[in-house]
Amino acid sequence: GERREKNFIENEIDKDLASGRYSHVQTRFPPEPNGYLHIGHAKSILLNSGLAEEYHGLFNLRYDDTNPTKEKWEFVESIRADVEWLGAKFDDRIFFASNYFETMYECAVKLIKKGKAFVCDLTADQIREYRGDFNTPGKESPYRNRSVEENLKLFEEMREGKYADGEKVLRAKIDMASPNINMRDPVIYRIAHLSHQNTGDKWCIYPMYDFAHPIEDAVEHITHSICTLEFEDHRPLYDWVVNECEFEEPPRQIEFAKLYLTNVVTGKRYIKKLVEDGIVDGWDDPRLVSIAALRRRGYTPESIKRFVELVGVSKANSSVDSAMLEYCIREDLKLSRARMMAVLKPLKLIIDNYPEGQTEDLVMPNNLENPELGSRVIPFGRELWIEEDDFREEPPKKYFRLFPGNEVRLMGAYFVKCVGVDKDETGKVVAVHCTYDPETKSGTGFEGRKVKGTIHWVNASTAVNAECRLYENLVDEEKGKLDANGNLNLNPNSRIILKDCKLEPNFDGAKAYDSYQFVRNGFFCVDSKDSRPDSLVFNRIVSLKSSFKL
Ligand code: ATP
Ligand code: MG
Ligand code: MG
Repeated sequence: GERREKNFIENEIDKDLASGRYSHVQTRFPPEPNGYLHIGHAKSILLNSGLAEEYHGLFNLRYDDTNPTKEKWEFVESIRADVEWLGAKFDDRIFFASNYFETMYECAVKLIKKGKAFVCDLTADQIREYRGDFNTPGKESPYRNRSVEENLKLFEEMREGKYADGEKVLRAKIDMASPNINMRDPVIYRIAHLSHQNTGDKWCIYPMYDFAHPIEDAVEHITHSICTLEFEDHRPLYDWVVNECEFEEPPRQIEFAKLYLTNVVTGKRYIKKLVEDGIVDGWDDPRLVSIAALRRRGYTPESIKRFVELVGVSKANSSVDSAMLEYCIREDLKLSRARMMAVLKPLKLIIDNYPEGQTEDLVMPNNLENPELGSRVIPFGRELWIEEDDFREEPPKKYFRLFPGNEVRLMGAYFVKCVGVDKDETGKVVAVHCTYDPETKSGTGFEGRKVKGTIHWVNASTAVNAECRLYENLVDEEKGKLDANGNLNLNPNSRIILKDCKLEPNFDGAKAYDSYQFVRNGFFCVDSKDSRPDSLVFNRIVSLKSSFKL
């Protein structure tokens, strides 16, 4: 592919390999199984798996399941499916942090024995108060100088369930005067009498993230532990843990900026709220940017990879224009998908001088820009469906489509001229009458006269009915993401359902996730939940045009 400059993480890895700090590269993706993955996670997955591939190293999928309250098996499975779908290769390298609870416990015991950890009886509020803040140095806990023996005994009793939640914690003994608050004797174990989805009731003490994560990395021989920027201040603690626990070839943490999209809701917590509040229909609602939703909408793994490459890896937080994501799927589908005739808002067109009961087979290329996709047959007849918008009884200026007296080309077929309309009792136009000129058939080289408009159509007698769902951003782009109260400014038109669409009869065998271009209307994908062979449902992936330019 294209040559690009190495990013800062690759530069660090190159240095580490050259200096002999590491002899191999091993990365991981460490999701907490407490929700579905989103486009931001895709960036992390592709970054980590991409580095492993580039350096002929290994990539682990590791569930960071050390917090028993929010984790569920449903999420374990969806995460695996999403990572596989993206094409990140972990083979059988799937790990659960909860399987290291015994090792973590042993590490804690080791710290106690070295005089580097102590059991503390202060309450959570007291601990917070003693910790101080940026301007105030911390105060040492009165329990800080307990003997090794006492600490070992109390910690064992914590494990045995002798104490209630919150009664005691284990803290690292580092430096209450450190300018880095994370180093002020951080809590590394807490008591929680909770059942865990993997270990059941085996444990009633659970390690804190800052203690658990470096151990998870070290146990798996991770070299480069890549995380997001908000953990930068935690790095000294990360290094302290792997060094004091005396791991060989300890891993190192490198931070990069999270991916944010303009006007798009990312963040597990926020997506979860939209789902729970019923604003969307589940985690895979095509308006979301969870990976499941993007897949259902019709995004391909290739388009997401391309997007992540374009965004690059940076050390500064910023928001990426969501139009760039749309650009990537459009580019992926433009030449690879057939361009089908589909009318979304149908209006009947009757060709008065076309023989009744007759149909003819027109041959049309599947994709004008990609001859390799071949051609197909489309039936044409006397009664057709056209888009409501392609006819105006009173045309505005520069309207080149159908209006009384005007002639247009029916795409791939003939010139037709509007000669009248049928109206219902309310005055609404229910059919447009035309005459056609047999001389003007497409492909015959007719040069006699020109028309300014070309419209698409579907033959009525052979049309297939379908439902099409059109999406806009969930968030009102004019108003911005949040209102004064911090609530989302929702777009009332984020989903429009058109139940009476008419398609050409070439959708036999269309199955979940198949995608097509619908001429003039955009790219569409067969919905994986609601579509049936005899009643197709499509999601619009993206419209054809965009203002976004690379
Ligand atoms: P969220 O903030 O959406 O809840 P999280 O960080 O809590 O995400 P985890 O399951 O802990 O979710 O994340 C797994 C990995 O994905 C972490 O290494 C995290 O840094 C990374 N990650 C999460 N969100 C993003 C993002 N927006 N951009 C890049 N990486 C991300
Ligand atoms: Mg997290
Ligand atoms: Mg989170």
